[in-house]
Amino acid sequence: MMEMVTVKCPNCFGQIQLDKNAEKYFCLYCRKEIKERPKTEEEIALEIKLKMVREIEKRYMRNQKTFGDVMNAFDVAEPVGKYLPLYWLERARFFHKGSLRELNRDDLSVGRSNTHKKYKVYYKDKDKIIENYVVLMDKALEYTTKNKEMLEVEKKKGIDSITAAFGAEQERRGEFSRKDQAMRAKIEEIEKNKMKRCALIALIPGLVVFVVVSLVLLVMGAHPIEGMLTGLMLGGVASLIIGAIAASIIYWKPRDW
Ligand SMILES: [Zn+2]
Repeated sequence: MMEMVTVKCPNCFGQIQLDKNAEKYFCLYCRKEIKERPKTEEEIALEIKLKMVREIEKRYMRNQKTFGDVMNAFDVAEPVGKYLPLYWLERARFFHKGSLRELNRDDLSVGRSNTHKKYKVYYKDKDKIIENYVVLMDKALEYTTKNKEMLEVEKKKGIDSITAAFGAEQERRGEFSRKDQAMRAKIEEIEKNKMKRCALIALIPGLVVFVVVSLVLLVMGAHPIEGMLTGLMLGGVASLIIGAIAASIIYWKPRDW
């Protein structure tokens, strides 16, 4: 089937008509072969508009504003929508998928992906996620003449699934922080017990040295207070030494290689 398009010859810039489905192209004016079919004016316009939409998306990601905010700042969004009724649907589906993927992540402890960084602003805000999705979906609905009912159903389902995923995410986060707290309490208790053990280990030899030294000095005929003070001093030294040895063993941690 012949499908004629009007393009400019890249050699002589003459306006020529070419069959879109032809295998080889020749210019009517300069007779030269055209290797690649030049784009039509509509195709060029569309390309420029798509580039502008990409720019909108980039700004939207960078500023972390809502898609609607950024689109309103650019008038190009409207004409692009008219040229590409399915474009917005694709964006909406892409956004929906990305949001769900990030909301459904199980592993909350590990650093998030790049996608997450782009979407992170929406994590805390369910309404913002849905608002962005609805903006895109409404654009698709506005410019689509076919299957409007189906799109309405998809939009409703999309909102529901984001709401559900967000709820599950919140729940997981709660559970995660509860588990985290329990773990921290356990570690704290272990640390406390370590200190108790150290103190106990240090106290026993100190007491033994105190009693033995005091008694020995007493038996040897020393003054009781003098004997006890000497015992106390030597007991203290013994406690310190044994305590330090015990602490270095109890608090020793294998090195991470
Ligand atoms: Zn030509």
